[in-house]
Amino acid sequence: MFRAYELEKALDTPAKIYYKYEGVSPSGSHKPNTAIAQAYYNRQEGVKRITTETGAGQWGSALSFACQHFGIECEVYMVKISYEQKPYRKIMMNTWGATVHASPTNLTQAGRQILAENPDSPGSLGIAISEAVERAVTDDNTKYALGSVLNHVLMHQTVIGQEAVIQMEKAGDLPDIVVAPFGGGSNFAGISFPFLRLNLEEGKNIRCIASEPSSCPKLTRGVFRYDFGDTVGMTPLLPMYTLGHTFVPAPIHAGGLRYHGAGVVVSQLLRDKLIEAVAHDQVECFEAGIMFARAEGIIPAPETNHAIATAIREAEKCKQEGVSRTILIHLCGHGHFDLGAYENYLSGNLVKHEITSAEIEAALAKIDTPMID
Ligand SMILES: *Cc1c(COP(=O)(O)O)cnc(C)c1O
Repeated sequence: MFRAYELEKALDTPAKIYYKYEGVSPSGSHKPNTAIAQAYYNRQEGVKRITTETGAGQWGSALSFACQHFGIECEVYMVKISYEQKPYRKIMMNTWGATVHASPTNLTQAGRQILAENPDSPGSLGIAISEAVERAVTDDNTKYALGSVLNHVLMHQTVIGQEAVIQMEKAGDLPDIVVAPFGGGSNFAGISFPFLRLNLEEGKNIRCIASEPSSCPKLTRGVFRYDFGDTVGMTPLLPMYTLGHTFVPAPIHAGGLRYHGAGVVVSQLLRDKLIEAVAHDQVECFEAGIMFARAEGIIPAPETNHAIATAIREAEKCKQEGVSRTILIHLCGHGHFDLGAYENYLSGNLVKHEITSAEIEAALAKIDTPMID
């Protein structure tokens, strides 16, 4: 946990800004908090191989690291666009002994089906999940592990917020606002749930804000209903905010946020207005990330930049209103493997991408799963 004094100065804001940094883990993000636990329990069960998907490569790296530690084989289906944008993430996984495939592949029924429809598919987390799940259900010694969305993953990640509550106490402060980027909800839940407990049990009034990309806005523009967690429809149905399980987000750089759905518990909390959500365009996010890097020295992951963009908006509001609030940012990962995205931004090639209402309606119209209420 750090106080972002230099960012406060750069923004000339009366707000106090803190950040909790998870980029110091071996794989560079919060993901090992659940990867280690999942690999451990699989080892206890005698599992020989684990399959998984990865978007930006963060989850695949974390699980490769954890599997290697517990002597389990790891097979990773990596979204093709990220596989091409981030070769070093793949090498990192290989270094920890994992096998990595660019998804969609020809190795599974699900992958072949997608490729038949669209041979140039950039892939998506939903497709990669279908492939990894299919491999696990067709082999007795293989299990599938998910890096976000599910309740056990969110619970493992709450170690972040439990530490953060104590660290804020040590700093003699309490956040008015907690912000975290939102892909499937694990890092957001991880940092915010222990603070939500203070709201629910101790009458505190801490705003917890999830930051998502405007090109994949399931929380701010999706619908709450039953949907599949994967593209092909192999997972159980989950009641959640979704853009539809066949939705393929634009190939923006924040690969970890290119997911159509959201965790069940976070979805219900949003529906009950106990948390908030906002969306940011990728250009605003990179402006925020570069400002943060120049002020605080850490180069954040593109996903993380969404939370920084929200924090900057809130800090600017404090300035306009002439009030001081305490803002806690979840700095969930570093961007050392995302420098291609930074290069894109710095050379002026990163474009705004806002999804149109027509595109959203078309995606939602394709959902054929049960409505809620
Ligand atoms: C995976 C990842 C995310 C998005 O996933 P959540 O489950 O929503 O946390 C965000 N930031 C980073 C750095 C990630 O690795």
